Amino acid sequence: MSWQDRAACGGMDVLLFFGPDDEPGPEREIREAKAKAVCKPCPVRVQCLDYALRNSIRHGIWGGLNEEERARERRRRARRPDAA
Ligand code: SF4
Repeated sequence: MSWQDRAACGGMDVLLFFGPDDEPGPEREIREAKAKAVCKPCPVRVQCLDYALRNSIRHGIWGGLNEEERARERRRRARRPDAA
């Protein structure tokens, strides 16, 4: 069984996690808040975030973080002395 099989978002509408490119800011904030509420208790949140960071996935909500938040996390991890 892979971590994806235990995802809290399994079977949900992917549009909640991946908005359109031209999505207006207020709608995006609402959608992302709903998606993050699903991610928060997800049992594979760490694995999901690690997967997105390892594979440089730029779009959507992964591990409870949006694109900008993942970019920040990527930079934070790159600064760690033990970073690979
Ligand atoms: S952390 Fe969020 S996007 Fe990732 S598997 Fe869990 S519910 Fe889905």
